[in-house]
Amino acid sequence: MSLSVEVAVDVPLWSTFSYLADRSLPRGQRVRVSFGSRRMCGVVTNNGNAEQQYAFRIKCVDEVFDELPPLPEAFLDLVNFAAGYYHHPYGQTLFTALPTALREPRAVRLPDRRVWRLTPAGRDAEVAPRHKVRHALWQALCADDLAPEGARAVAPSAATILKAWQDSGWVTRVDAAVPPLAVEGVIPLNTAQRAALDAIEASSAPHKPWLLHGVTGSGKTEVYLQLIERQLRAGRQVLVLVPEINLTPQLIARFTQRFPLTPTAVLHSHVADGERLVAWVDAWQGRARIVIGTRLAVFTPMPELGMVIVDEEHDGSFKQQDGLRYHARDLAVWRAHRAAVPIVLGSATPCLETLANVDAGRYRRLVLAERAHHAAALPTVRLVDVRRAKRSEGLTDEVLAALADRVRKRELSLVYINRRGFAPVVACTECGWLSGCPRCSAKLVVHLLERKLRCHHCGWEEAVPHVCPDCGNTDIKPLGEGTQRLEAALGRALPTARILRIDRDTTQRREAWNDIYRQVHAGEVDILVGTQMLAKGHDFGALSLVAILNADAALYSADFRASERLFSQLIQVAGRAGRAERPGEVLLQTQWPEHPLYQALVAHDFDRYAAELLGERRQLGFPPASFQAQLRADAPTLAEASDFLHTIRERLAQPAQASGVAVCGPAPALMVKLANRERAQLVLESPQRAALHQLLNQLTEWLPAQNVGRGLRWSLDVDPQDT
Ligand code: ADP
Ligand code: ZN
Ligand code: ZN
Repeated sequence: MSLSVEVAVDVPLWSTFSYLADRSLPRGQRVRVSFGSRRMCGVVTNNGNAEQQYAFRIKCVDEVFDELPPLPEAFLDLVNFAAGYYHHPYGQTLFTALPTALREPRAVRLPDRRVWRLTPAGRDAEVAPRHKVRHALWQALCADDLAPEGARAVAPSAATILKAWQDSGWVTRVDAAVPPLAVEGVIPLNTAQRAALDAIEASSAPHKPWLLHGVTGSGKTEVYLQLIERQLRAGRQVLVLVPEINLTPQLIARFTQRFPLTPTAVLHSHVADGERLVAWVDAWQGRARIVIGTRLAVFTPMPELGMVIVDEEHDGSFKQQDGLRYHARDLAVWRAHRAAVPIVLGSATPCLETLANVDAGRYRRLVLAERAHHAAALPTVRLVDVRRAKRSEGLTDEVLAALADRVRKRELSLVYINRRGFAPVVACTECGWLSGCPRCSAKLVVHLLERKLRCHHCGWEEAVPHVCPDCGNTDIKPLGEGTQRLEAALGRALPTARILRIDRDTTQRREAWNDIYRQVHAGEVDILVGTQMLAKGHDFGALSLVAILNADAALYSADFRASERLFSQLIQVAGRAGRAERPGEVLLQTQWPEHPLYQALVAHDFDRYAAELLGERRQLGFPPASFQAQLRADAPTLAEASDFLHTIRERLAQPAQASGVAVCGPAPALMVKLANRERAQLVLESPQRAALHQLLNQLTEWLPAQNVGRGLRWSLDVDPQDT
């Protein structure tokens, strides 16, 4: 008898597909099917209905890969949620969530993780000492079970011997026991840490998310470690998500030093496919008790999940920017809720979305207001007013003198150059006028080549004015020019300083961060120069000075998230100063020392400015006060992309109005041209998440399935981070 099963495959289509099978296949079973002319891997989503009458012939499942059990229900659940929330095809979502090796239409080979154990008969066997090799192996087995590698280390020919002993009933293969929990180097918690830990431990509403809001160096990691210890003691697994850049050997070492015997799986995109598969399966089979990874680790099946931790929850790398555009923190929150386990989101600079959730009572906040290390105070922050200071090539004398002083004293400094591609706006240096859009609340972005100001929210365009429309000043110019020169200028101004540059290029290699740490800790560096990468949680030890250049450009960017990001980055980078015994100093060059963002930075008052930003967003109706989705289109010409979006816009107009969703655009993308294609976008925005998603459901029905090739391509981004 044949049964029909539903199979998901990795294609850009919304449905799953029917195939015939000669037996009932469980949900989650990996199979091989032919799809069109291709052989593809599939996953069974619905098992065995008795064969229906099909009007057409349906194909058979070609092969069943049963070297692994079917994918667990909790995993399929998460995939289902992600596909629905991000309006992404189910099959593509599922295959994004799987490690690469499981996406291929072939069986995987996994190392046999079982160990050799002596049977009572084997123990009585008394291998004579004159059989040197065999005696050594036997003795080793009397002491402890042996993994295959362990046996080989005792005797190179172990495999053959063990096989023979297995036939004689002297040894068997058994699953390795979970090693006992060993905990080393625990630090006694301070009052604030203890209060946080106790609150989480004692909570009667475990799956309401926690925000652990602790200033840099306040000992958040120590709190995580002690929470994890309790979970491990209770026989639970723990999932720890960290930003890409933070998943350094130093961080992993902190975990493995604390729990030296606990099997820990590390998952990120640089882990080779084979290794990643093993780590993933280890977590799924409960062998790995801790999983530490970047965003993709959020999908790792963990049958005994007891807690989820998301460190630096504000970090942009949790959001995937292509394919399935998911946010790992948000999926983690859903997953924890579903599994009814606690989730802790940690940060010194939580994002506004999270703070809004705290305000609304959905998340609970725990505060670590002070640095944990007895001697480490927060650094003093001073603003250097560049309007009055003498400058050479963008560097003030004050900053140069401070750097020279540290170089002389052999203390480490960090120069932070804010160089990210913030969309430049035009400003007046006299009265502070900024190019705003007359039609919406966005800023106009300057396109120098065309001498145009353009709104990337609604599509408005105008010429760049020659004088300030408010005060008539002729000195109006785009903010944020000339950052590139700064670095070279530093080298010339401080010829004896040993300068180490850190950016995307210099940190590409896997070992790059190790080298950097080694050089820094060996005292071979005077000044670290770098961009956003340096704002993350690196511990360079005694950083005595942080100089921040060019922050202003981001202050008035067209991206409504730019101020939030700048604020967060500045707090993080300032947090690198004075982490050990020496107090740190932060110097920030700016044209606008009176700006509330900088004032909050000087006062170490995150809350005040965050509240101000949140107020602004509410006033303007931007996220988190509203919910957005972006439909992007790209084509060989902008006209094609825009035409497509116009058509969609027209179809959406009526239902959008009925459900209170605003449709803005189409507008050309910030970077219109990319890889010879031109891009435009439509923004959908609503104060009601449900209304937005309802409209998205309709939208996806109208979108062409054919979404590959050289013609028009579209993508949908729910909760976009880049606008
Ligand atoms: P965060 O994760 O908040 O940046 P860490 O956990 O890395 O902070 O802690 C910063 C420093 O303070 C580390 O060197 C850590 O060993 C130390 N530390 C943490 N908790 C304590 C404590 N209770 N007493 C003393 N030192 C602590
Ligand atoms: Zn002016
Ligand atoms: Zn506009």
